Amino acid sequence: MTVRGKKTVRDLRRGSRSALLRRLYFEGPLSRQELGAVTGLSAGSISNVTGELLADGLIEECGSVESDGGRPRILLQVAARRAFLVGVDVGETQVRVALFDLARTELAASDRPLSDQGHDVDHVVELILAGLAEVLERTGTDPAAVLGVGIGVPGIVEQGDPDEDGLGVVVHGQTVGWDAVPLGRLLRAGTDLPLFVDNGAKTLGQAEMWFGAGRGVRHAVVALFGSGVGACVIADGARFRGATSSAGEWGHTKVHVGGRRCRCGARGCLEAYVGAEALLERWGAAPPGGEKAGLAALLAAAETGEPAAAALLAEAAEYLGAAIADLVNLFNPERIVIGGWAGLLLGPRLLPGIRAAATEYALRFPREQTSIVLGLLGPEAVTVGAATLPLSDFLDSGGEFPRRAAERRAALRSGGR
Ligand SMILES: [Zn+2]
Repeated sequence: MTVRGKKTVRDLRRGSRSALLRRLYFEGPLSRQELGAVTGLSAGSISNVTGELLADGLIEECGSVESDGGRPRILLQVAARRAFLVGVDVGETQVRVALFDLARTELAASDRPLSDQGHDVDHVVELILAGLAEVLERTGTDPAAVLGVGIGVPGIVEQGDPDEDGLGVVVHGQTVGWDAVPLGRLLRAGTDLPLFVDNGAKTLGQAEMWFGAGRGVRHAVVALFGSGVGACVIADGARFRGATSSAGEWGHTKVHVGGRRCRCGARGCLEAYVGAEALLERWGAAPPGGEKAGLAALLAAAETGEPAAAALLAEAAEYLGAAIADLVNLFNPERIVIGGWAGLLLGPRLLPGIRAAATEYALRFPREQTSIVLGLLGPEAVTVGAATLPLSDFLDSGGEFPRRAAERRAALRSGGR
């Protein structure tokens, strides 16, 4: 039994392993001397813990650098193929499942279009499980080496009990007709891999903060601009969630009282003006090939000077800029990152207008502290972000494999808490 407030030897050991793994993951390769300098751990601790991590196969030696006059220093890095991650993006038109190694190299991906059933829950669960089986089979990956399945979904995610490995996850996806969907329980029936579920905009936010356009800042907003519009607010380095994880539903902030009807049922939401679905509706043309082809056609029409298309996109830039000004006034971010497939497609054309409108509508002082940039991770960043959910857990645990972690938790429970 552990005593609250008193760290056990095991806690301290896990803390040191986690600190070293994180440094090597985000800043590696590093030598033992550099690890000592950045973590503040003693040379003895560094030697013990790196020895353990090497013995576990979690890190590996990768060459050496000369040191001033002394012996060459051996460099260490995280062993990319020691474990694997699965990221899932439950998108607007398809379910994408991708398998990554620890270095985020995509080893296999499965894209399955949502059929006429749309976001029917059983259909989505079936597509996720089929995609998961496909990427594991195609790569011959041992499920025991998979740290978990991270899933980005459209909607608000209630996490449930953290000890239940995702079993208690419930999703409220008002715009896709998901009313308190027990996604964790439904998926658990088809896989025993650890499950991590979060809102797609929040997983995108984590990916851009860790590996993309948000690197190096502590206060940011990452906007997901696709068929709908969402955002992830990062305050002092952590994702801001609110009381029940719904914070950041930026797409449903009002830009027009009494305005257009939104998919959420309310009127005048930002999403009802600038979401890809809304833009195409307002353009009045529904070209074949779906939303992506439609938005590309709208952009092409604007580029060739078609007045209606150009005016619609100019207005969209103003709406987005004004809504970004609200983010600037409310959260005082250092950076605003615009991602999502529609954001990346239209971004190069819209960005000057967005920046100008944000300057016009925001308070001058916080606006001067904020840069507005496009995401760097491409249109599949939600999938990468979803895969960071099990990765984050793994780094926090000091490199513990999930099955062992589950056994440890079960032992704790049966030990009578
Ligand atoms: Zn709405």
